[in-house]
Amino acid sequence: MTETRTAIVTGAARGIGAATAQRLAADGLNVAVLDLDAGQAQPVADAITNAGGKAIAVGADVSDADSVEAAVSRVAEELGAPTVVINNAGIIRDNLLFKMTVDDWDAVMAVHLRGSFNTVKATQKYMVEAKFGRIVNLSSTSALGNRGQANYSAAKAGLQGYTKTLAIELGKFGVTANAIAPGFIQTDMTAATAERIGVPFDDFIKFSAEQIPVARVGQPDDIANTVSFFVGEAAGFVSGQVIYVAGGPKD
Ligand code: NAP
Repeated sequence: MTETRTAIVTGAARGIGAATAQRLAADGLNVAVLDLDAGQAQPVADAITNAGGKAIAVGADVSDADSVEAAVSRVAEELGAPTVVINNAGIIRDNLLFKMTVDDWDAVMAVHLRGSFNTVKATQKYMVEAKFGRIVNLSSTSALGNRGQANYSAAKAGLQGYTKTLAIELGKFGVTANAIAPGFIQTDMTAATAERIGVPFDDFIKFSAEQIPVARVGQPDDIANTVSFFVGEAAGFVSGQVIYVAGGPKD
């Protein structure tokens, strides 16, 4: 029997992160449900515990290195060495370039890029020691360019380069790093986009589904299932990859 692994899923209070935390717990991992506010993450941890899994809710701001260090130490103590990290926490600060502020730019970079750097910096020693690790970074189809998302698309493209570098540096320690680039997934984030452009969410979903080859928008479980594959013991030879999970091909 393989040993029980411990995963940290960031931004796991809702949306894709919550589904991923629950999926990894169902796969048999201990899970730290990390989000800005531990109180918001608690119901997800409770759902896992009620289903027979092991989870704790952890409050931390991924963009803050000290906050992440403290969270990782707590996870190591309470759940075991965190050797699986899912960098899912994300924000959008969309605007056309001429209206985008430096704060909008910096905020998005801080959560997606610095956040993913902080979590891996803080956990890599556990992975190296265990000679096992799984890092999954949430990119986006926006990495290919998307109107109104100069900051977000740059961060999501940056995460792809970061992922490949982690794969190269950490591979010899049994650590894989991969990125998932979702298309339209039905969450609060896409609801916020619909609101910003002034379209009812249901109409936005219907219109988006018409552009997607499989004729539906994605659900958080579509991404959680893909994370589960990358995290599995059997995926040890898959590293440095970017998989577009978008209901159709992307370049
Ligand atoms: P979501 O529903 O907005 O959830 C994001 C979570 O991240 C929230 O719980 C949020 O907490 C948390 N978070 C934000 N900043 C944080 C920080 N500094 N530290 C810790 N947690 C933080 O988003 P989602 O749609 O599930 O997206 C999850 C990931 O997938 C993101 O990286 C997103 O960019 C990516 N993605 C999503 C889609 C999509 O269509 N939904 C497509 C492509 C990629 P608060 O609630 O407290 O703000």
